[in-house]
Parts: sequence; C-alpha cells; structure tokens
Amino acid sequence: RCDPRGSGCPSQLMYLNNLVVNTTYPGAQQAGTSRSSMSLPRPKSSGLLGSEGSCYESLCEQQPIGRRLFRQFLLDSNSQYAAAAKLLEDFDYWQHMEDEAKEKAKMSVLAKFCQPESRTFLFSHAGDAAEKYTSLSISNFDEAAMEHVREATRTFLKGGPFSEYLKSPFFYRFLQWKEYEKQKITRKYFYEFRTLGRGGFGEVCAVQVKHTGQMYACKKLDKRRLKTKGGERLALIEKQILEKANSRFVINLAYAYEDRTHLCLVIDLMSGGDLKFHIYDLGKRGIRMERVVYYVAQITSGILHLHSMDIVYRDMKPENVLLDAKGQCRLSDFGLAVELPKGKKICQKAGTTGYMAPEILRQENYGMSVDWWSVGCSIYEMVAARLPFKDFKEKVQNEEVTRRTLEDDCKFQHSDFDAPVKDLISHFLKKKVQNRLGCRGDDPRNHVFFKGINFHRLEAGLAEPPWVPKPNVIYAKDMDAFRTASEVEDVKLDSKDERFFKEFSTGAVPVRWQKEMIESGTFDLLNSSELNASLLQTGSA
Ligand code: ADP
Ligand code: MG
Ligand code: MG
Repeated sequence: RCDPRGSGCPSQLMYLNNLVVNTTYPGAQQAGTSRSSMSLPRPKSSGLLGSEGSCYESLCEQQPIGRRLFRQFLLDSNSQYAAAAKLLEDFDYWQHMEDEAKEKAKMSVLAKFCQPESRTFLFSHAGDAAEKYTSLSISNFDEAAMEHVREATRTFLKGGPFSEYLKSPFFYRFLQWKEYEKQKITRKYFYEFRTLGRGGFGEVCAVQVKHTGQMYACKKLDKRRLKTKGGERLALIEKQILEKANSRFVINLAYAYEDRTHLCLVIDLMSGGDLKFHIYDLGKRGIRMERVVYYVAQITSGILHLHSMDIVYRDMKPENVLLDAKGQCRLSDFGLAVELPKGKKICQKAGTTGYMAPEILRQENYGMSVDWWSVGCSIYEMVAARLPFKDFKEKVQNEEVTRRTLEDDCKFQHSDFDAPVKDLISHFLKKKVQNRLGCRGDDPRNHVFFKGINFHRLEAGLAEPPWVPKPNVIYAKDMDAFRTASEVEDVKLDSKDERFFKEFSTGAVPVRWQKEMIESGTFDLLNSSELNASLLQTGSA
C-alpha cells in the first residue's frame, strides 16, 4: 500500500544499508533512545502571539502540529466542538475518495451533520442559509452543499472555539513546539552517510536526523567555491524556492544550516534515481507508457505548483526529475528558476540545449510558457529515448539544434508513441506560445492523455505508483565516477560573506519539520506524557 504520510518506509532503511560507509551508523531503532530523554522547552514569554501571528489558517490548518493540537483541544472541550472537528475530518477524507467509497464517506458526513450538536453550531452561524440546511438529505447533498457545510463549520471554529484555544494549554503546548522548532541546527544534528551525487558547488549526501531517524539528502555548497564563482545569489534563490514549495511533486526543504566550510540544504531524499537514468541506463531504452503517464501527471502538477507561485522553472528535463523510494517523482535543482511577478516577462537565455523553447532561442520576452515546451520535450524523450530535435548523444552544434527547434516539425518515428501521447506532445510543442497547451488559460490536466489519473488522489499521495524501485539497487551511475579531489580555493571570507551565510542558515522549515515530528512519532511520544503533566500544571497555576 502507498502510505500517504510519506515516511516510515522500510525500504529507506534497506537503501541505507547499501549506502553506509560511515561506520557510525547507529541503526534506526536506536534513534529512539535519545528522544526519550528529550523534553520541550518553555516558550519565551515575550511577544509570542506577535511572532506567530494569530491567523487561524496558519495556526490551525497549515502547520501540522498546530492542526493536531487544535483538533485535540476541540475533542477535549465539549460535544459541539468535537462534532465540528469530526465533520471537518470527514470532509478531508471524503475529498480523496473515489466513487463508491466517496458515496459512503458522504453518508457519514451527512450523518454527522444531522447530529443535534452539528445542527446547533451550523444553524447559529448560517444566518439566511439556515433554511437550506433543514432540507438537506442524501438526495440533494451535492458537492456544493457539502462545501457550504464545510465553510460554515470553519466559520464557526474561527470564532469562539479559536479564541478559547489560544488561551488553552493546548496552545501553550504549540508554543513550546515552536520554541523547539527554532533550535540552532548544526552538523551534529545529523548522521552523515555516503555521497549520492555531485553538483556544481559540492556533493549531495544522505543524512539522518539523530533523534527522529528521518532520512534526508543534504546538498552541500562549498562557501569558498560559491564566492569565487559568484554563486551566492543563485544559492539563495534556490534555497528560497525549495523553502516556499509545499508540494509532493517538488523537492522540499527541511533545514538550511551552515558549518565552517559549507552551506547545507537538507531536502527530501530521492533514492530511486533520476528519470534520465531510467530512460537510458536500465536495459531497454525508454520508459513504458503506464509509467510515463504517472510521471507526467506528477511533473505537470509540480510545474503548476511552481507557476502558481509565479516561479518559472527553466530547467525541466528528465535529469532533474527524481524518484523516491516508493516510485513517486519530484522536480529538483532550482538553480535556474526565477520568480516573475504577475504578468512580468523575462528575456534571458537560460536552460539546457534541446529543451529550450523557441521564444528563448529567439531571445524574446518569455514567461511560464517555456516550461510547457520543455515538458513536451521530456515526454518525447521518456518514450523515444531521444529528444524531438536532437538524437541521443548526437554530436551537433547548438546552432543546428536551435535551427531545428525553430523550423522543423516534430516527427514521431518511434513505434511506442500512441495517439494520446502524440497529441499531448504536439500541443506542448506548438512553436507559437498562444497555441501551446498550458499557455491558453487552459489546464493540461484535462487532456485525454490523463484520463486514467485522478488528480485529487494523486495530490493526496493516494495514487499507487506503477513501478517501485528495488530497495537493494542504487539507481545512479557508479559513485566512483564522482570521487574527485575537492580543490581548496584560496579565498578569504569577509564579514559581508558571513552576513550572507547567516541569512541563508534559517534552520528548520516549520511545516516540513512539524511533519517530521509527527511522522517519526516524536510528537506523540512527547505530547502524551508532557501534555498531561502540563494540563495539570497550568490548570492549577
Ligand atoms: P547542481 O545544481 O549543482 O547540479 P543538483 O541539485 O543537481 O546539483 O545535485 C547534484 C546531484 O546530486 C544530482 O544529479 C543527483 O544525482 C544528486 N541529488 C540531488 N538531489 C538529490 C536528492 N534529493 N536525493 C538524492 N540524490 C540527489
Ligand atoms: Mg543538477
Ligand atoms: Mg543546479
């Protein structure tokens, strides 16, 4: 089964066994020993709410620990609050169900909504809409009606229950977790394992958080090399994009910290290799269609997520799409990405030969459209193991690739192209931006190519991957090829550099960190014992 919470995956550990070169590997079981001696810090008393804001959405919905504690508060308070909590929970569940299960979940929502506790809070807040509720039954309880009930429930919770929560021990507990979240992160926080790959500014290696056992990848950027090559600004952009992205189809940042020599980005560990490796290096060239559909659905969702934040990726290609241990993919490597405020365009040549859109090659102003072109090239490559305008390993001048991209039609000679994929690629490879899929105010997810994909379930991590990486295989070229001596450059770092390193090293990223606390069981472990104790304490204080 596919675990939507995304961790606790045993194959991660088996993968680890293959990676271990550092003999201090303690075994994940031992990770628990240090946390039993942990306890939560006291929140600093000044300006707590000021710094956290008092926004319901952030405190009770977006932050995973906040959400859990608010729910506990509701269940613990009175039957009406508890009914509201359960109603919301059912809505979340319902949204990701399919057909028959969805109908069942709907019945359950209706049943909870019909309980007297639900009725009282809903009616008191419904105003004019109150009459509508009395007439709701299974026959007319459609999606619009459900959405209405859900909004009414949230409106209710944002009022009295939320203000009471802010004064409760549950919220005090939340502030303690926030205090803990702000701890300084150093290299001692992690165990470090072997190198997974090498990038322009340093290596990427596997790491494990000591006290939770959570595995990540750590992308290390050599401070001196950054300075000599003027990569500091780019590193900060990459960090900010990784930090902002909150999607299961984009690599997420968990921690940013520094040590004496490196800036470190701790990100999702992707042990299944990149799609380029899967296209060319595993026997039969190309990827079979069922997998192509699944990956392209995830890539499309990832691109849409970036675009929704006004970010142009500019480096869409199979090499930058990484698979995790379960066989789901994410976009990675945001070294070329830029943020373009609404409606703004950019004119700057950037990208990889063979994947660049005509508007970039013609040095025109461009925006999000270039990513859909590159998606088209990448789908072509997944099927045919070559690019539409460049053969695999073809020795050809960039100018010739540019000419073909601007002038030639895309040909589908390979027998593995079926009608839907041909149609999809042709629409992504429209040379005029105004004709291109994804650029006409349309949504590529509606294309027939995706008819077998339920995007709601995909977004929720509930769509089973068609292929799962074998836990004992390392999906990358021989690591020895990466072993180059790291040259020490003779540059002095000054106070300006130090300021920049501080700005970069922001520690734990709240949403990701809170997920880690919950998924690793650390949250439950500390909460069950400590909350009971503090409930008694604050109750008597
Ligand atoms: P650069 O921007 O310097 O090219 P990348 O982000 O592409 O650096 O990382 C370099 C290499 O490290 C990648 O080609 C890949 O092999 C490996 N790598 C990067 N991120 C991860 C990750 N999250 N999980 C596993 N391996 C990774
Ligand atoms: Mg790279
Ligand atoms: Mg890069």
